[in-house]
Amino acid sequence: MRARIGVFAVRSAGAVEDALLGRLCAVCGEALYGRAHRPAGICRRCTRRLYDARISDRERCELCGRTLISERMRCTSCRGIERTFLNNASPFEYRNCGDLLIRACKVNAARRSIRLAAELLAPLIPRVEMLVPVPSRTKATARRGFDPVQVLVGHLTIRLGIPSAPLLVRSSGGSAQKKLGREARAENVRGRYALNAHCVERLLRESGRSAPGQFPETSSRRSIGVSICIVDDVYTTGATAEECSRVLANAGAGTLFVRTLAVD
Ligand SMILES: [Zn+2]
Ligand SMILES: [Zn+2]
Repeated sequence: MRARIGVFAVRSAGAVEDALLGRLCAVCGEALYGRAHRPAGICRRCTRRLYDARISDRERCELCGRTLISERMRCTSCRGIERTFLNNASPFEYRNCGDLLIRACKVNAARRSIRLAAELLAPLIPRVEMLVPVPSRTKATARRGFDPVQVLVGHLTIRLGIPSAPLLVRSSGGSAQKKLGREARAENVRGRYALNAHCVERLLRESGRSAPGQFPETSSRRSIGVSICIVDDVYTTGATAEECSRVLANAGAGTLFVRTLAVD
C-alpha cells in the first residue's frame, strides 16, 4: 500500500506562510523571539500550556474520550451507546486548549502548527494498518488553500510510518457541523460521506486482494480488511465519526478507531 496523502502538501508547505506568519505565535499572536520557537509557529509558553492541558489516559471515557468526572469507564452521554468504531481519543478537551490548537491549525492558516498537533496526537494513534482523514468541506478547503486534517494525517504518516489513504470523499452541500445541535448534526452528515472508489480500487490492486474492476460490486466486503484509524479535528456528538465508520465498515474494513485533536 504505497498510497500516501498529504506528504507532498506537508513538504511543500509555504514559504509565503513563513514570511507572513513566522514571527507571530499562531496561538496567542505574540511575537516569537529567536529561531527556537519557530518550527511549529507556536511560542514556548503556548507549547507548554498545550502539553500541560492534555487529557490523561486514566481519566478518558472508554468510548468518546471525554474527561470522566465522577463516572467510571464511560461518561453519562455514552451509556448504552453502540458505535461502529471501537473508540475515540483526543489529546484535548475542546474548551481546554483544543480550540486554541485547532484555531492555530485552521483559522490562522499556520500549516506549521499542524506539525505540533501531530506530535501531540501521535501517542494516541493505535497500531493500525492505515490512517484515513475525514475530508473537509470542499468550500472550506478552497478558502484555506489546504485541508488541515489531510496535512495532519500526512505528518502522522511521516512520524509513525503508517500508510494513509483518502478512502473517504465528502459530497458537497450540508452545513458546517459546529452551527448545529445534536440531532441536526446526525441528520446533516447522513449520506454525506462515501467511499473513494478509485482509491479503494488502487489499494486492492496494489495489495493483490482484488482484480481491477471488481470493486465495489463483488469484492469490497472481504477485500479492504485492514484496521483503520479515522482522523478528524473535533469529536462532538460522534455523528461524523459514526457515519465515516459505517461507510468503511460496509466496505469490509477491519477494526475502526477514531482519533481527533479535541473532544467537545
Ligand atoms: Zn503563544
Ligand atoms: Zn463518553
